[in-house]
Amino acid sequence: MNSPLKKLVVASHNQGKVREIRDLLRPYDVDVFNASDLGLIDPVETGKTFAANAELKAKLAAQATGMAALSDDSGLAVDALDGAPGIYSARWAEQADGCRDFSAAMEKLHSKMQAAGGPDTARFICALSLALPSGDIYTYEGKVEGRIVWPPRGDKGFGYDPVFVASGDRQTFAQIDPGEKHAKSHRADAFAKFIKAWFPKASPQN
Ligand code: IMP
Repeated sequence: MNSPLKKLVVASHNQGKVREIRDLLRPYDVDVFNASDLGLIDPVETGKTFAANAELKAKLAAQATGMAALSDDSGLAVDALDGAPGIYSARWAEQADGCRDFSAAMEKLHSKMQAAGGPDTARFICALSLALPSGDIYTYEGKVEGRIVWPPRGDKGFGYDPVFVASGDRQTFAQIDPGEKHAKSHRADAFAKFIKAWFPKASPQN
């Protein structure tokens, strides 16, 4: 069975995420468009969960473009901080000038964890939503368990990657090769569910 998804827009302006989603979709026969290239505006994320925010972004992008839209809402949940920064992961990096500074966000995370005490366990969570122009919406959730280390290590990846070590690993997500991260990340987990649903028999095109 051929997938009905021939083209889609990635409803995100986060270039790290867009790059990872493009890499994950590369093996499949689907034309991928960027939200920035199509002049889409990032909506204010008013949802209280990753899924609610992913659905909101995908829905608006599908309405604006008439194309299927894929959106990812993701973040880091730290046990010692009761799941923070969670849906506010990007906001923790925001500076007064509107730019994002993840070194500052990781410092904030570290000092809050030191103040709180408790375990270093954490997980990255991803909700991936596909909105169709018809208004139908499908959401897939993924996660990867791990722990927070200090100081930050590595210069690959993005966001909180330099302080996150997946369970069973010694290197952070910013130290391992992107291909290795794609194989085990929260996004890969959610993606596997999305691919299974929409490209069930597709053999990757390489
Ligand atoms: P949003 O989904 O655009 O609201 O932002 C999610 C934020 O979570 C990103 O800006 C990063 O701070 C963080 N995040 C999500 N996925 C990853 C990842 O794979 N590595 C590192 N940080 C991530």
